[in-house]
Amino acid sequence: MKFSDRIDRLPPFLFAELRRKISKMKVSGIDVISLGAGDPDQPTPRQVISSACDAIQQPINHQYPENIGKFEFREAVAEFMKYRFNVELNSEKEIYPVLGGKEAIHHLAILFLMEGDICLSPSPGYPPYRSAPILAGSKVYPLPLEEKNNFLPDFLEIPSDVLNNANLLYLNYPNNPTGAIATEEFFLSVIQFAKSNNIAVVHDNSYSEISFDGYKPISFLQTKGAMDVGVEVFSLSKGWNMTGWRVGWMAGNPEIIERYAHLKPNIDSGIFGAIQSGAISALNEARDFPKHMSEIYQKRRDLMIKTLTNLGISVKPQLATPFIWAKTPKGYSSMEFANLILEKAAVVVSPGNSFGKHGEGYFRIALMADDKLIVEAALRIEDALKVNSIISI
Ligand SMILES: *Cc1c(COP(=O)(O)O)cnc(C)c1O
Repeated sequence: MKFSDRIDRLPPFLFAELRRKISKMKVSGIDVISLGAGDPDQPTPRQVISSACDAIQQPINHQYPENIGKFEFREAVAEFMKYRFNVELNSEKEIYPVLGGKEAIHHLAILFLMEGDICLSPSPGYPPYRSAPILAGSKVYPLPLEEKNNFLPDFLEIPSDVLNNANLLYLNYPNNPTGAIATEEFFLSVIQFAKSNNIAVVHDNSYSEISFDGYKPISFLQTKGAMDVGVEVFSLSKGWNMTGWRVGWMAGNPEIIERYAHLKPNIDSGIFGAIQSGAISALNEARDFPKHMSEIYQKRRDLMIKTLTNLGISVKPQLATPFIWAKTPKGYSSMEFANLILEKAAVVVSPGNSFGKHGEGYFRIALMADDKLIVEAALRIEDALKVNSIISI
């Protein structure tokens, strides 16, 4: 057999060794608490499940769905975008359903990138921002997100030979893994940058609904000029505890949506009708459910940050996302620290470098475990670090 080299060019899966260690510990009876994966621990809202159950009985949903999705789904999205962000969208031309945000991120790369092109991908960042452009045959320029810039990219630092070949920019605020947020002023600078360099923007707003301390995340599309340069990707996964359902949407520039609509029937056949009915119910009947989830995450955040602060690991409480992004103690690389926490506390945290090289020196805690487990994990981390005198308190 002769394989294409696409898979070889994907970044190595840094979590692999950690994962092997986790399974070994579990097999030997150690109860490992996982705060690694970004997957909500709570169930999908009841109304959503019940709407999907009704819809699954209807034969119309047993046939191929249409890629463009149900009219009612697109209408529900348009209403939600108006209610939540005051963004008015044409539900025929400016909204398109997706099989989860990840699907959108991958297939948007195909629309824009060819061999020789460069994709600007935040580092640290959600791994598909790197793998999608590689699979599309292009190169990736890791766009550093640094703490001193509030984890916003500095476009002035991009070398001009990179800019000359750059064709696509992924952004994501509220940000995974750093928890950083964007301002309207920043989005204005993005639009200016995109226009003057002829670069398309994909803004991933998967965490728009999980926020704390009264902060409300904004939409890229509410910034003047955004519709000219890009699209925004939304997901029901995180806000409504629907990661298993695979449903979301993209909205924005009609030409991008039109091209996407051309591409998609060549790849899949759309979203199962019953799942679309669940999504409609989430947007119409469970619109405020993410507020309730945000309250839960906020409590967990405060508890975990208190423990970390007591241990001398200082973290600024994030205003959005269920993620705590913190510096590893002096002398520890991301991987060494994640290993230490696993071995001494049986708690899984994500090493920062698994999100790109600029994540080195950090670790991420996903607040996605039952409250009791969060308390237990915090206690275990505290004990482990104190006993090992990792931290000089
Ligand atoms: C979880 C996540 C997504 C998308 O999840 P889907 O389940 O594919 O909708 C997209 N972007 C980021 C940054 C995420 O963390």
